[in-house]
Parts: sequence; C-alpha cells; structure tokens
Amino acid sequence: IDFAQKEISVSSTSGSFPLTKDSLINLDHGDPTMFESFWRGMGDQASILIQGWDTMSYFSDVTNICWFLEPEFGKEIRRLHKLVGNAVTEGRHIIVGTGSTQLYQAALYALSPSDAPEPMNVVSAVPYYSSYSAITDYLRSGLFRWAGDAYKFKGGSHIEIVCTPNNPDGFKMQPVLNSEDGKLIYDMAYYWPHYTAITGLADHDIMLFTVSKSTGHAGTRLGWAVVKDPEVAKRMNKFIELNTIGVSKDSQLRAAKILKVISDGYELPNSEPAAKLFDYGRRILAERWEKLREAAETNGVFSLPVYPSETCNFYGEETTAHPGFAWMKCEKEGVEDCEEFLKGHKIIARNGKHFGVDSKYVRVSMLDRCETFEVFVHRLASIH
Ligand code: PMP
Repeated sequence: IDFAQKEISVSSTSGSFPLTKDSLINLDHGDPTMFESFWRGMGDQASILIQGWDTMSYFSDVTNICWFLEPEFGKEIRRLHKLVGNAVTEGRHIIVGTGSTQLYQAALYALSPSDAPEPMNVVSAVPYYSSYSAITDYLRSGLFRWAGDAYKFKGGSHIEIVCTPNNPDGFKMQPVLNSEDGKLIYDMAYYWPHYTAITGLADHDIMLFTVSKSTGHAGTRLGWAVVKDPEVAKRMNKFIELNTIGVSKDSQLRAAKILKVISDGYELPNSEPAAKLFDYGRRILAERWEKLREAAETNGVFSLPVYPSETCNFYGEETTAHPGFAWMKCEKEGVEDCEEFLKGHKIIARNGKHFGVDSKYVRVSMLDRCETFEVFVHRLASIH
C-alpha cells in the first residue's frame, strides 16, 4: 500500500459501486476484498463479542517477551503454521505488530546497532515491494537507510529483505547477498497455500507474516514475526513498546477467532468444504489467473510471469503459483509507460518504477472483489 502515490477516491475498493462502464478500476493496492465472500459464507462463526469491560489493560501476558501478545492469538498462530507446514514456530518467539508494516520497522530497529557511525544499509532484490524504500526512509533514521537493489549493493554491513514469494512478481526468492556482514529479514506474507506451493517448513531467523494476506483481514491491522534469537525478539518488542505501547487487543482477539475458524475448517472431522479458506482462495485465484492469461493471450499486448510446477506439501499435489498480484509487462511497441497506458483504459495499476525497475512493468492486484476483477479482465482483453 502506498497511499501517497495515487488518488484513491475513484476506486472499486472505496465503495463506488455499482461499477459503470466509465468507472476507474483501482487495482493499485493489494486490498484483499476477494476474501469477503468466504467470510460472509461463514456467517457468524467467526464473530466475537467484546464486552465494555474487556481488553482494558495494556498487558496480556507479563511472563512473555511480547507481553502485549494475547495468548489465544499466539496459540492460534502456532496452530495454523503447524497445520499448513509453512514455518517452524516451536521454540521460536512470536512478536505481534500493527500489520507486518510495523514489524518490518521493528526488525530494522532490532538489527541495526545503536552505536554505528553510519546508518545500516537496507537492500532488497529488484523488483522489490514498493513500500520498503518509503518505510525505511520516511523518518530519515540515523540507524538505517534504504540502499536499493541488493544485486547492485557494493558490500559492507547491511540488512537484506527477502520477500518470498515475492511481491510484486510472485517468485520464490533466496537471499542475493550471502556475505558475513549481512542480516536477513524474510517477508513471508504470501507463503500460504492459496498463493503458492508450500514446499518446505521455513526456519529463518526473522519471518514476517500478516493476516492481511493470509485471512484477508487487512483492516484488522495485525501481523506477527517468528523470531529465533531472544535478544532480537526483545529489541523488536522494544520498538513496538516505544512506537505504540503494544498492539490492539481487540484486533488480536478477533484475529485469534479468525485463525481458529480456519484451522477448525481443516481439523474438525465434520467441517464443510465451504469452511476451508485455502481451498477457496486457491480456487478463485486459479480461475482468475486462467482468465488473465487468456485475456493477455487474446490481445498480445502483455506478458506475464510463468511459474514452475512444484509439489505442495499441504495439498500433496503438483501446483503452479497463482499470486495475489499480476506482474505484467507491456510488449506493445511505442508504449514506455504501462501505468499510463492502462489508465487510458480505466485501469489503475502500480508503475514498475516503484519496484526498482522500468515503467514497462506494472503490478495489478488479483485480490479485489469478483465484480471488479471481471471488469478488469474484460477491459484488458479488449485492448489492442
Ligand atoms: N509485506 C508485503 C510483501 C506486502 O505485500 C504487504 C501488504 N501489501 C505488507 C508487507 C504489509 O502488510 P500489513 O497489512 O500486514 O502491514
């Protein structure tokens, strides 16, 4: 999300329904409204009641490093990772944050020495998630600074962000810099079975996850970090103490219920097929990608990434990725700025330049509501 970049007034996601033939389709943000219909289908199963006297204290569990983590939320996070098999949580610390956006900053703070003469360089391989640069530099910290593309980094101490699967292009990533001077943060927002094959149990030093992309509850503003080293966990926690004195308990209780319902959907013997969130997300995204590839083939104007077939341990079958974003390249001669070109067709997408590459690329959200997606592919297919 980068709200500074674009006007967001004319947007499917700002509620300007019904869509008309003149509406702009805003697919600039990865707003996960696609998941609303799943949760609507679950009725009140994921609802909670918070009484007037609940969640009043700052504290949740003073025996934990992350004393503001609601135990129920922590428990459901571990349960879900175990069910999916995407990350090790046994013996690891869980730090909750206001979105993984806050945890990213907490991790930079934790990994940057407080007494270094120069700020720590922060890098990520192109194309990198567009918000990393802005979030790293907006306060002009003395502790860290954005140093751009990891492939071009000249050396010295640094923090590398590995976003895997990657936003914007959906590929699984490894660190580019493997030097001894480097520290790593893994942003694993999209390592869930609706987007990609779960190919192994990740066990990195710092792994960031978010409800925004796993359950679709972006507005709940919750993320979590799985952290190996207790000293790093303590420093990340310190950042959140200084930044917001903790994280909304109301949100955590709600998210705990949401995660519980997802795990129950797979673990309880009598659960309905309609209660399986990952199956829902995977089916819708697979259908959307098929339609998108068809539209791109019809017009010949755009090319799309091709993903390898991999075995998903969660589903026990071969699958190819169907990411939450389409990373499109405009192949039309004479078109240098694909964002402008699409805008002329009433589609708002994010320019490749924000991801460290050229403007022939754009990123388009695949996670909007059905109506919006249908209008999008229809418009795309009609471009010549
Ligand atoms: N990392 C990545 C790769 C993302 O795509 C996003 C959301 N667009 C975030 C982090 C931020 O997520 P949150 O809503 O949890 O702050």
